[in-house]
Amino acid sequence: AKKAGGNRIRRYAAGLSSQNVERLEVETQLKQALRRDEFLLHYQPQIQIASGHIVGVEALVRWQHPVRGLVLPIDFIPLAEESGLIEAIGEWVLRNACAQAAAWQRSGLPAVRIAINVSARQFHDPELVAVVAQVLADNGLDPEQLELEITESMSMKDPEESSRILTSFKALGISIAIDDFGTGYSNLAYLRQFPVRCIKLDRAFVSELGSQSSSDAIVEAIVAMAHKLDLQVVAEGVETAEQRDHLLRYGCDELQGYWYSRPVDAATFGVLLQDQHEL
Ligand code: C2E
Ligand code: CA
Ligand code: CA
Ligand code: CA
Repeated sequence: AKKAGGNRIRRYAAGLSSQNVERLEVETQLKQALRRDEFLLHYQPQIQIASGHIVGVEALVRWQHPVRGLVLPIDFIPLAEESGLIEAIGEWVLRNACAQAAAWQRSGLPAVRIAINVSARQFHDPELVAVVAQVLADNGLDPEQLELEITESMSMKDPEESSRILTSFKALGISIAIDDFGTGYSNLAYLRQFPVRCIKLDRAFVSELGSQSSSDAIVEAIVAMAHKLDLQVVAEGVETAEQRDHLLRYGCDELQGYWYSRPVDAATFGVLLQDQHEL
């Protein structure tokens, strides 16, 4: 019995350490990725439904891994959150997205809002507001051009602190979007206490539009209520013209999705912006 117990303990200890080793490896790799500049951004346009114009763009991070190829955020953002490297990666995203927005503008393209995803840890980082202000100044970017996307659960965690943070962003002139709206607690009345420009209606609702589900009724009701609260509605994951038509009918303000464009590299986005400029 004593021997079996010992084995169990050894196995347990071995399991723990191999987990730690794995975590350490990922941490090392992410740190290396930052040093070697292996991250890159793709950009997805946000279209004003009424005019058909690109009014914004969301920056989405990717990792160009030397062996694994292009790695999507789902495969490293959660690890970066856990290991505490998300602040550094988030700052890299912020700096590069703002620099890119300034470069598009310098090259004569029309100014569009640039949206950046902020992780929970980043959001609660007391230095975030100052860093954002500095990055805007460094790039000569108008704060009104920057939008930070936070999720509803992030703002729900500590409403008072969130309200304080969001108010300081608002004071800077930056706008806030509530990402993945409808997947969590979804309380519009609650959101009202925050200075928020828009909600981003989650893809789950959009993909069911026009089917026999209740999504049409829900989307119509959310848009109506959001507008009463002076919030704009951006639909995510719009893949078909039919979905766009439904969203137009329900009064949704902006859309984003494969129907218009997949996330593309900076040069390709510049072309999209240029083409519509010539319309
Ligand atoms: P998200 O913020 O909800 O971003 C939208 C995701 O939906 C993106 O996936 C985008 O490529 C995808 N998408 C856009 N249109 C369509 C469509 O029509 N159909 C479908 N099926 N998908 C569409 P992506 O780029 O893989 O990003 C996944 C998530 O990773 C993001 O979800 C966001 O939560 C996170 N993320 C991305 N970039 C960053 C970043 O810079 N910082 C942080 N903290 N998180 C990021
Ligand atoms: Ca987002
Ligand atoms: Ca989203
Ligand atoms: Ca999402």
